[in-house]
Amino acid sequence: MSPDAGTDVSADVGADVSPDGSAEPAFRWTSIAAVSAGAGTSLGGAARVLGSTARALLLDAAAAADTALRRPASAIPANRRSFTLPVRVLILSDENGRPLTTPDAVAPSLENADRALRTGASVRLRITGVDTIDEPAPAAALDPRSNRRLLLDDIRGHTAFLRRHLARRPALSVVGDPVTVVVVRTIAGRTTGCSLGMSADWVICQANLFDASSPRTYDETVLAHELGHALNLPHHHNRSNLMFPVSSPPDDVRGTALHPWQRAVLHVNRHLVPPS
Ligand SMILES: [Zn+2]
Repeated sequence: MSPDAGTDVSADVGADVSPDGSAEPAFRWTSIAAVSAGAGTSLGGAARVLGSTARALLLDAAAAADTALRRPASAIPANRRSFTLPVRVLILSDENGRPLTTPDAVAPSLENADRALRTGASVRLRITGVDTIDEPAPAAALDPRSNRRLLLDDIRGHTAFLRRHLARRPALSVVGDPVTVVVVRTIAGRTTGCSLGMSADWVICQANLFDASSPRTYDETVLAHELGHALNLPHHHNRSNLMFPVSSPPDDVRGTALHPWQRAVLHVNRHLVPPS
């Protein structure tokens, strides 16, 4: 993990990587307490984030029970019965109303994610939409911060534009809430994608990941990696694994392998619809 130009880092709640290449610890929930005590902080935002996390914990537990009652996940042959993951993509537009990328450009990353999750965990993606928001996005949405800073911005209400465009969840739904992938312009630091894990049903990916004409930034694995975090997967130390934290196109792109234990984690996630 050298800090040379062109090295792109996908950072998220699992760990962050600073510009000098040193690893920072993951955020702590004490961050919420700290920011709640800070000036200008929205207690309502903290309550909302804590509420959504508590809801996620409950739904994950319900989804795990549902999966266990239907059939042990390990007993489902990979080539016959698949879980379904609903995914929606939102493409933001810049200050001039110009979309940051196109649905066609995002398609290879979605196919890569579908292939990786289907092969490694019998999970198929169901794309519920690849939508472009024509309304110019504010700077906080176009160029968000990452990791704990994104969490704090979410608490402070700086992600309001983004959340306004997220899919509305049925109040009584237990499984199958879609994960929304938001295509943003830039993410602060050397990060190219970010997920807040179970505290949010959305992830962010930088637009230049999808530009095939820019080989030093084009990376079809980042969207799949962030979806993995949205489904509660932590980082993995093996470069061939989908959850390896660093990916450096064009010559050192992370792999897309998944371990059986990662498969087990995925199968009890609330976003997945189990096989019927
Ligand atoms: Zn990551």
